[in-house]
Amino acid sequence: MAITERLYYSDSHLIEFEARVVDATERVSGWTAIVLDRTAFYPTGGGQPSDTGTLNGSRVVECIDDGDKGVLHVVQGAAPRRDSVVRGRVDWARRMDHIQQHTGQHILSQALITLFNAPTRSFRVMEASCEIDVELDNPASEVIERAVELANNVIWEDREITILNVTPDQAAELPLRKESAREGELRLIEIEGFDLTPCGGTHAYRTGEVGMIAVRSWERAKGLTRIEFVAGTRALADYRKVNKTAREIAAMFSTGRDDAPQLAAHMVEENKELHRRIRALEEDAAGVEAERLLATTRDGVVSRVFDGRDAESLKKLAYALISAPGTIALLASRDKDTARLVFARSADAPGDMSALMREACATLDGRGGGRPDMAQGGGKRVEQLEETLCLIEEKLTGAV
Ligand SMILES: [Zn+2]
Repeated sequence: MAITERLYYSDSHLIEFEARVVDATERVSGWTAIVLDRTAFYPTGGGQPSDTGTLNGSRVVECIDDGDKGVLHVVQGAAPRRDSVVRGRVDWARRMDHIQQHTGQHILSQALITLFNAPTRSFRVMEASCEIDVELDNPASEVIERAVELANNVIWEDREITILNVTPDQAAELPLRKESAREGELRLIEIEGFDLTPCGGTHAYRTGEVGMIAVRSWERAKGLTRIEFVAGTRALADYRKVNKTAREIAAMFSTGRDDAPQLAAHMVEENKELHRRIRALEEDAAGVEAERLLATTRDGVVSRVFDGRDAESLKKLAYALISAPGTIALLASRDKDTARLVFARSADAPGDMSALMREACATLDGRGGGRPDMAQGGGKRVEQLEETLCLIEEKLTGAV
């Protein structure tokens, strides 16, 4: 016989109770583990998180199922003494939330069996949503939404939920959704005309209390389909969040919420087209810029430090420059806190650009390399950029 009588087994809506302290053990952390002769607190288990609340006003931060030893109430602060009588109070908002998620899971799991013969393998209540892992091979949107629709119809039919305590022999005769791992008497949860399954959790009185179920996302995981869903107040919280996001996006397009996806898709297309046009214009501009730079050089070496040019833009200019015979381009840019370099030469010009690049990058505390006619690199010592480029130019013209 277990030490703690579990009041939540017979009434999931009971939140205030009186009990006697059977054991009180102080833990090293300064917290106390309290065992009561009876409790309405649900301990962590079956995918459902623990209840929280108070014992004589002291905070119960967690409850742990210690099997035959009973339920451990982890109390923070002043704890009641052994043999004293305490008044317990379970946090109702949290309990109600768990009732909605947990009962919602029974309904959604049965809906997936009824429609697709897809049993649920595991269940978790997480911080903001819940997960079930289901043997469902084809999680298409229509498939998931059909299950959601059936589940919500069962909720809105406000069916009665009852608890049945049966012997294993009686259970063997019943069409249970899943087998129980427990031995001895079984606690079954029956949703009128819809679902019958062994479970030790806390459930709604009627399906209507679940409010509604919405599926947020799904993915294939380890041969199963992982479905993320929300029920009850979480579904409303999720709706508010998603509506806010959608409205904020719509406001950026100065349109209504439901027209935003079409406008966003249009903008993405337009953006791609603009990028194509900019690339073409950059090419033209690089040609013009190269001509201007070449007009000012006498020895065929163009050495320049720019501000805020990315590697792609430097490369375009380098290619435009070396299309003129006998040209060497030593280009650099201060791009925020990074120094970028591109060295290139025409086929008929002298010098090993790759070797020069490695040398320059070593001075700039960076890395680079490439081919003898084209190399790129970069470094962190932006303040050294001008000086480094001068050194490389001297080296090159000295060698020529
Ligand atoms: Zn349950």
